[in-house]
Amino acid sequence: AKARGKNTYRFFSRELNEAATDRLLIENQLREAIREQQFLMYYQPKIDIQDDTLVGYEALIRWLRPDNTLVPPARFIPVAESTGLIVKIGEWIILESCRFLARQHSRGYAVSLSINLSARQFNDNRLPTMIEQIIQRTGVDPSYLVFEITESMLMGDTDAAIKQLNQLKRLGVSLSIDDFGTGYSSLNYLKRFPVDELKIDRSFVKDIPEDRNDMDIVSAIIAMAQKMQLRVVAEGVESEAQVDFLKQNACYVVQGYYYSMPLAEQELSHLTFTIKT
Ligand code: C2E
Ligand code: CA
Ligand code: CA
Ligand code: CA
Repeated sequence: AKARGKNTYRFFSRELNEAATDRLLIENQLREAIREQQFLMYYQPKIDIQDDTLVGYEALIRWLRPDNTLVPPARFIPVAESTGLIVKIGEWIILESCRFLARQHSRGYAVSLSINLSARQFNDNRLPTMIEQIIQRTGVDPSYLVFEITESMLMGDTDAAIKQLNQLKRLGVSLSIDDFGTGYSSLNYLKRFPVDELKIDRSFVKDIPEDRNDMDIVSAIIAMAQKMQLRVVAEGVESEAQVDFLKQNACYVVQGYYYSMPLAEQELSHLTFTIKT
């Protein structure tokens, strides 16, 4: 038993060690990525399924390594978050995204743009001023900007969160709760937060139309959003059956591979949707 205990210990300590080295490695590479400008923004279309028009995009970051590998955000956002590098990267994301939106508007496209905020970014009291300066610098109309936050960011210090949300709202932007349904927000909480939109998490959408439970959850979220006069968006839509279900339940704005993957700006011109003007 003793020997096994020792082995177990060695196994865990090696695992931990590898994870720590991995993080350190990614952290150093992230610093280099910032210096060498290895980040790119991709944009995923948001479609109004009533008439199949393109109404906006979600900005999603990508890391293109010098060896041409594309690193997905799930691999590096958590490291950027825990090291604080996200503040710098996050500022770049907002600037780059607003420039993109300004270019879309200058072509006459009346599209909105959703930008993800991480917890650390959201908790930074300099965030509203930073966004305000970027809005001024790029000349973008803030009413077309949406900032996505998750329920967990609102749950800690709720008074501070409400204050921050109000500061952001004063800029004229809208606010969306991402991955809705996966956190802990109660109806009571939701009413206190000045948000404009709920984004139904992909985990509830992916098994429609097979999973009756998920269908009930999704229709309940949509009904609740309507009751609270919030916009509702479904993410991760991959099939026609899912589109039909959402349409029947009056959720008209969707995002997902069924319509388009996230794309680089140059690739957006290949899309064939009618764009709102
Ligand atoms: P998220 O905000 O929930 O973004 C949606 C994710 O689902 C994206 O993954 C998107 O590519 C993917 N997706 C969209 N449609 C479908 C679909 O039909 N099927 C499937 N299977 N997936 C779909 P991505 O780009 O890898 O991003 C993952 C997460 O990383 C994001 O989840 C978000 O939490 C974070 N992230 C991405 N970009 C940013 C960013 O610019 N800033 C911050 N703070 N976080 C970001
Ligand atoms: Ca999102
Ligand atoms: Ca999401
Ligand atoms: Ca999600």
